[in-house]
Amino acid sequence: MRRREFLKTSAGLLATAAVSPRLGWGAPPARRPNIVLIVADDLGYADIGVYGCTDVPTPNVDSLAKNGVRFTNGYVSCPVCSPTRAGLMTGRYQQRFGHEFNPGPPTVADDIFGLSLKEVTLAERLKKAGYATGIFGKWHLGYLPQYHPMKRGFDEFFGFLAGAHPYVQTEAPSNLILRGSEPVKEEPFYTTDAFTREAVSFIERRQKESFFLYLPYNAVHGPLQASEKYLSRFSSIGDDKRRTFAAMLSAMDDGVGRVLETLRKANLEDNTLIFFVSDNGGPTPGNTSRNDPLRGYKAQVLEGGIRVPFMVQWKGRLPGGKVYDQPVIALDVHPTVAAAVGASVADSKLDGVDLVPYLSGTKKGVPHDRLFWRFGEQSAIRMGDWKLAKLADGAPQLYNLAKDIGEANNLAASEPAKLKELQAAYDEWNAQLMEPRWGRGGAAGQDAKAKAARKAAKAGARKQPG
Ligand code: CA
Repeated sequence: MRRREFLKTSAGLLATAAVSPRLGWGAPPARRPNIVLIVADDLGYADIGVYGCTDVPTPNVDSLAKNGVRFTNGYVSCPVCSPTRAGLMTGRYQQRFGHEFNPGPPTVADDIFGLSLKEVTLAERLKKAGYATGIFGKWHLGYLPQYHPMKRGFDEFFGFLAGAHPYVQTEAPSNLILRGSEPVKEEPFYTTDAFTREAVSFIERRQKESFFLYLPYNAVHGPLQASEKYLSRFSSIGDDKRRTFAAMLSAMDDGVGRVLETLRKANLEDNTLIFFVSDNGGPTPGNTSRNDPLRGYKAQVLEGGIRVPFMVQWKGRLPGGKVYDQPVIALDVHPTVAAAVGASVADSKLDGVDLVPYLSGTKKGVPHDRLFWRFGEQSAIRMGDWKLAKLADGAPQLYNLAKDIGEANNLAASEPAKLKELQAAYDEWNAQLMEPRWGRGGAAGQDAKAKAARKAAKAGARKQPG
């Protein structure tokens, strides 16, 4: 009798569930997750506490690892700024559409520079799905009006369009701080604090909607500049350069803390998917950032240039305190987010994959059995524990990363079969790519000089882009 009653009750519950407004067919879905994507600039693998940094506390970024998943083999698709961001926004290897290099500053960049208009950005996808979208910080995906972030899916923009910007004033005539398309009038802000302020305001203003917050800090990219508020925390660090770096990093960590606090106060933390990633490895000689135990720096396809701090927190869906060791790449952000919000990606051939099933344990295997890098004359492939890298000299360097994370023991000569296997897989991928659409960037570079000369030869000075 009791059993029958139980069965009846169960059936009743099931029937109720089937027509429930929350669970029934055709009912409106439960509220979709908010998306927060925080990008650090030139932050090395060992610059965050949970990755081994000991002299600069980063409790807020660390909390993402405590409450989410930390990747130990988290990569970006390029060892410099703009190409990585192109991959991040599209979920595709950026060399497929010619975005192989930084373009140099607006004054020397080729007119064609910008994220290809044929590509679908993550912001465009989310806007189409009904999300409020905002970017606060560094764009670096085009200077001309057609490439402006508000033409690429963002409702709101506060930040700058180019690759580097001073932190303590807005007087960068070719790279102004903009709100929308309007230059921001002088105000005594520290850019990291200003981007945080705008991000917090965005959450507060948009909290009743589903939103996508993209927060690409320029910290800890050069120039090394910090305000007294943060410098005063590190009076114990004697070296001026390191002290300033520590202050810059601490400001960014404070900013991450304020964003998390704002989500918490709005009772949105459980239903917000938060990614944190650096755009490339640390340029140690430039800003004292550290990549150890990895070898190499920003602008190299050695691990120190491409393996970065990378975490994801989604308290409502993913386990906390999990360390995930399989290789993942920033290209995975776009498809992971698309799946989380229920947006189709059928219009793009994505290279990234949805990570959530792997992280929650519902899917076995690995997200990627191979990852690739091409950056001009440099190239690399990782297959399982093995990596083949070629720097500018073209000499093959073959490493077993499981045994040799520091890429110290080149096995190219002793493992010819493995070398051949990786080279063949790389060649197959490389054959799918197009030539770079513009040359290597920096103002001091040969390509940039040639472009500048060509532009100077053109009649009439072009007005400032943007
Ligand atoms: Ca960078």
